[in-house]
Amino acid sequence: MSEALEFDYVIGGAGSAGCVLARRLADAGNRVLLIEAGPRDNSWVIRMPAGLRSIFKPSSRYNYWFETEPQRNLDNRRIQQPRGRVLGGSSSINGMTWLRGHPLDYERWEQEGATNWGWKDCLPYFRKIERSDVSSAYRGTDGFIHAQRQEHLCPLNQAFLDAGVEAGFPLTDDVN
Ligand SMILES: Cc1cc2nc3c(=O)[nH]c(=O)nc-3n(C[C@H](O)[C@H](O)[C@H](O)COP(=O)(O)OP(=O)(O)OC[C@H]3O[C@@H](n4cnc5c(N)ncnc54)[C@H](O)[C@@H]3O)c2cc1C
Repeated sequence: MSEALEFDYVIGGAGSAGCVLARRLADAGNRVLLIEAGPRDNSWVIRMPAGLRSIFKPSSRYNYWFETEPQRNLDNRRIQQPRGRVLGGSSSINGMTWLRGHPLDYERWEQEGATNWGWKDCLPYFRKIERSDVSSAYRGTDGFIHAQRQEHLCPLNQAFLDAGVEAGFPLTDDVN
């Protein structure tokens, strides 16, 4: 008779949150079962940014391709809601933009009852997760996620920034 497998934790969904949780629990010596509904992420359409387009259609096996209910204020249209159905979850099909919420949002949420979720509470974790190419009070350099400024600005991006400056908005080094 085969031996029953035993686990300390069972996690449903190997997306961003599930993978981090599994890694943390396993690193702490626990036996973890991570269950994912979608396939593996070892496809070129996921590994190569240009492949992303093929994931953004209803027929993709990597995308749940949800739709909202009809939106009254949008002429009753249903709005597409892509979500990753694959190892890595939505982070396997996302835009890889690295942007935090605005500090004032965290402050407001705390005032509304989310105790210990204020900006000062969250900032150390934002820093901990990052391996940034900039070292500052806002950036971490020892985490798992490599974060950097966009290397090559296309002329349109640059024109957009220039237009902002021309309109009187100061250019900042770090929007976060
Ligand atoms: C198109 C797109 C672009 C985005 N761009 C960005 C960006 O540029 N920057 C950014 O910061 N964020 C971006 N996001 C958001 C970010 O990817 C998500 O907020 C984040 O991945 C959510 O993590 P999660 O763990 O909550 O869910 P997910 O990562 O979606 O993981 C959920 C997982 O659970 C699995 N699952 C669901 N039900 C079951 C079940 N019953 N049994 C087993 N498995 C199940 C799913 O298959 C999925 O793999 C984007 C998201 C999308 C969809």
